[in-house]
Amino acid sequence: LLETRGLVKRYGPHTVLNGIDLHIAPGQMTCLVGASGSGKSTLLKCLNLLEPIDDGQILLGEEDISEPGRDPQPLRQRIGMVFQSYNLFPHMTALENALLAPRRVHRKPRTEFLPAIEALFERFGLSAHMHHYPDQLSGGQQQRVAIVRALAMKPQVMLFDEITSALDPELVGEVLDVLRQLRAEGMTMILATHEMAFARELADTICFLDGGRVIEQAPPAAFFTAPEHARTRAFLARVL
Ligand code: ATP
Ligand code: MG
Repeated sequence: LLETRGLVKRYGPHTVLNGIDLHIAPGQMTCLVGASGSGKSTLLKCLNLLEPIDDGQILLGEEDISEPGRDPQPLRQRIGMVFQSYNLFPHMTALENALLAPRRVHRKPRTEFLPAIEALFERFGLSAHMHHYPDQLSGGQQQRVAIVRALAMKPQVMLFDEITSALDPELVGEVLDVLRQLRAEGMTMILATHEMAFARELADTICFLDGGRVIEQAPPAAFFTAPEHARTRAFLARVL
């Protein structure tokens, strides 16, 4: 469904991604792990065309979405992204936040979208909070609203960048539950995470980034118990 071929990203003289080849099959959860600075966030931003790439290709289905000059906006409806900070608009309720993008893109009255979006709130246990403003919600609730807001565009793929790392530990679980539910529903997801236990439980594939390359790519069972590379072993020794 989503593929990169030889993706290269530089910031000035610094090559941050150095030939990334990814194949993401529909319904798969891929976890990107690696040390701080290894390029996880940059890779997600490139996939969502938030950062221009310097070489290589990104394909969504059969389509090369990385051609220069392409309008990134329609593409971002097909690839949703959620960040560490929830970025909800503070002056809008949870529901208004979620309605914003569909209304802007499709230019139809809110009643057209309301049932589907209310159903999303319900599905993720947020019905009681639809009419609350972000500052009336806990961090975990805000992050779940941010996920609902991204899902409101009916994306084909969801990207998540460390979405639990700003949360108090007791709120992490409720956000991970949303990901569990999405996985069960067959959503295709790519997740940059430091939550190794979660990656181990739910990922189909773990990609280990080091120095701008994917140096190891394996199902969690193999990745965590029999990593092939010394650098992977050193990383796991630090984080496990
Ligand atoms: P973390 O686990 O800390 O989130 P990461 O794996 O997400 O790290 P990135 O944020 O992708 O790492 O950063 C990869 C490298 O790119 C780092 O060396 C970083 O300093 C550099 N970098 C990221 N964004 C920019 C930018 N806008 N301009 C210049 N350099 C950048
Ligand atoms: Mg990051």
